[in-house]
Amino acid sequence: MKAIRRFTVRTLLPAALQDLDELAHNLRWSWHAPTRDLFETIDPHLWATVKGDPVALLGALGPERLAALAADEDFVAQVRTSAQDLHHYLVDPRWYQSVASQGRSMPAAIAYFSPEFGITSVLPQYSGGLGILAGDHLKSASDLGAPIIGVGLLYGAGYFKQSLTRDGWQVETYPVLDPDGLPLRLVREADGSPAIVSVGLPSGRELHARVWMAAVGRVPLLLLDSNVPENDEAARKVTDRLYGGGGEHRLQQELLLGVGGVRAVRLWSRLTGAVEPEVYHTNEGHAGFLGVERIRELVTGSGLTFEEALEAVRAATVFTTHTPVPAGIDRFESDLVAQYFGGDNSTPGIGVDKVLGLGAENYPGGDPTMFNMAIMGLRFGGRANGVSLLHGEVSRGMFSELWPGFDETEVPIASVTNGVHAPTWVDRRLIDLAAERFTSEEVATGTGWLRTDGITDTELWAMRHTLRTQLVKNARGRLRASWRQRGASPAELGWVDDALSPDVLTIGFARRVPTYKRLTLMLSDPERLRALLTDPDKPVQMIIAGKSHPADEQGKRLIQQLVRFTDAADVRNRIVFLPNYDIAMAQALYPGCDVWLNNPLRPLEASGTSGMKSALNGGLNLSILDGWWDEWFDGENGWAIPTADGVEDADRRDTLEAAALYDLIENQVAARFYDRDERGLPVTWLEMIRHTLATLGPKVQATRMVADYVQHLYAPAAVAGRELGADTFAGARELAAWKATVRSEWPNVRVDHIESGVGEVPQVGDELHVRAYVSLGALSPSDVEVQVVHGRVTEADDLSTFGTLPLAHDEAYEGGRHAFGGDVKLAASGPFGYTVRIVPKHARLASIAELGLVANAT
Ligand SMILES: *Cc1c(COP(=O)(O)O)cnc(C)c1O
Repeated sequence: MKAIRRFTVRTLLPAALQDLDELAHNLRWSWHAPTRDLFETIDPHLWATVKGDPVALLGALGPERLAALAADEDFVAQVRTSAQDLHHYLVDPRWYQSVASQGRSMPAAIAYFSPEFGITSVLPQYSGGLGILAGDHLKSASDLGAPIIGVGLLYGAGYFKQSLTRDGWQVETYPVLDPDGLPLRLVREADGSPAIVSVGLPSGRELHARVWMAAVGRVPLLLLDSNVPENDEAARKVTDRLYGGGGEHRLQQELLLGVGGVRAVRLWSRLTGAVEPEVYHTNEGHAGFLGVERIRELVTGSGLTFEEALEAVRAATVFTTHTPVPAGIDRFESDLVAQYFGGDNSTPGIGVDKVLGLGAENYPGGDPTMFNMAIMGLRFGGRANGVSLLHGEVSRGMFSELWPGFDETEVPIASVTNGVHAPTWVDRRLIDLAAERFTSEEVATGTGWLRTDGITDTELWAMRHTLRTQLVKNARGRLRASWRQRGASPAELGWVDDALSPDVLTIGFARRVPTYKRLTLMLSDPERLRALLTDPDKPVQMIIAGKSHPADEQGKRLIQQLVRFTDAADVRNRIVFLPNYDIAMAQALYPGCDVWLNNPLRPLEASGTSGMKSALNGGLNLSILDGWWDEWFDGENGWAIPTADGVEDADRRDTLEAAALYDLIENQVAARFYDRDERGLPVTWLEMIRHTLATLGPKVQATRMVADYVQHLYAPAAVAGRELGADTFAGARELAAWKATVRSEWPNVRVDHIESGVGEVPQVGDELHVRAYVSLGALSPSDVEVQVVHGRVTEADDLSTFGTLPLAHDEAYEGGRHAFGGDVKLAASGPFGYTVRIVPKHARLASIAELGLVANAT
């Protein structure tokens, strides 16, 4: 019989155990092993049954058990100690406070918006890398004491659970989550009623949402939930699933995330007294409407024009782009977006055309009927970045049409390379061993690993063996469960007890299954793979996992192809596909794998983070030089799979890269893994592990990443935002007026004529004298910078690398004409070239390319 309604009855904790509630609800337990230990001691068996979920554990304890615990003085004392430890973690000054106290001007608070957050498998609100990164960002911000507030949606069924048919086809199920049974607290008004955020929909409808708060250490994460009685049937379903529907459903989700998210932040400040954010960071374009809402606030609240408000908003917004894959960027029909920001939902002073202009693809190659969320992200983001050096470069190329006339290197998109939250992803055995043998300085810098007397080779290898064994055991359990689910009887599954071996070189591959990640590259030559797996002396075993987006039939076919290969009796004990890749599986997988494989189609992997998690556990990366690996592969921390960049035929490119992969595995990876000394140790392998832990260890940390964001993006954005906001937005008004003048006058701006002189035979150290005659229309010389762009030229006279030198204003003539002059020092020998250009200049521009205006000499 089906219940028509459900709710969760909460446990009433005895007073002596009250602190357990806080310990269970603050997600710090998810990266703090001692807190988990405390819960486990309550009932180890039950702890395993509830899969390590403290809220579920407490909910399952009967009154007698609770009374017994409350009477157990030792236990009560442990609870008190844990609660005090958490309290210190939450309030003591940390890195951020120390930087701020050195007088640096740091934002009072930062709002971080993301469509998904992967914090723990207990809160399944993520699909893959983007969400895990967001979770790691919040956790690391908490560890650093950075005053971030997260904003997202609470999806009723999260992403989906993956299983397989007998035939290897992906099946999706959507178990409904009960927010009352999750580590969340409902945000309430002072009178105890649920606080509500509302957003207007077309045709007079309204979308309401409750706000749940997940405590991620020191960071509050606000999650909006549309499944509330105030909503009509359709509106209740807006937050039903993560990336579930297409088109309008997705637009409504993003409307709630962006517009509703800002309103939730205001609500939170009103109810808790939390300081308002000074900086808004949007993790990919999905939350971009937050900018529209902030403009609305300024237009209605402070009387700014749309353009003035846009300046104020831009200055304080950071946009991170995460993908060079067009399918990863949200686009909507402009007509559809118009329905949401026009009519009843329009704001006086903000014509719907202005909102549409923010996402318009009004550049060569764009589609004028579409509204593009990434483009809006860049127009709102006074500061923007990609997520690895290579991805920054790729993004500058990809979006260069927005800054025509500038060199690609000048496109204002920087990069901050991703990182991962070590306490979440490193096996605690390894953490404990390092803490026991190294000084804290050695732990922080990674140098402890270079000392073989700290942890000996024998011990390190024994640790790797333990981690591999733990994974093999875990994988067998998952394999058995999967086969049972696929319809096999226990009698048919005897072989699973011997599937995988704790002594065999273990290669892991787990990630989402979009085409560019090439799940089945390893199957390019099935016989070759079979030979590697079944090699009698140097066998390889592979553990593979990944979900395909439910609407991606092609991805599901790839999974099926792979599963069918793994099902064959002669290889099934050496290669396995484990369904339902999630945080819990990931945490078991990374530590146990000797090698982490990644073979995306370069350069489509923006960063990738799973390889970083592997590295932190002493895994060696075997990867295409893409994303973070392109930046940090150093020849000794793993292997680079050579790419066939430029080979047009996709199949041929795959074949070439797969062949290179097989060669590497056979001749280098397996050869080295099985090359043992008289003690049975793979000495060179162990050196590579030490080198990886010592050199990559400190770099791949998400604390490094968050500190980079704080110093290079958040702090400057806060300063810029304050400057424009001071004196009731005098700066924003002035900047908007100046930009309007510059834009309208720019057609009259040009380089008319250049005179230059240099000696007969130019030598290094000589000076090139340049005098440029320019027209500025009604602009004044201080509104522009006239620059010599100079440097080495190619045979085609392209300035391959260049510097710029501002020229000084020399003379003004009639009709807006001026002369500028200066000297360029010839610093290097070889072919030299130069040109002159004019760009807008204003102290409050974050980049000379900001307006996308330049007048190049022709
Ligand atoms: C780290 C992680 C990812 C992201 O991995 P990529 O290498 O960036 O593809 C996806 N899913 C889970 C569960 C993860 O832990």
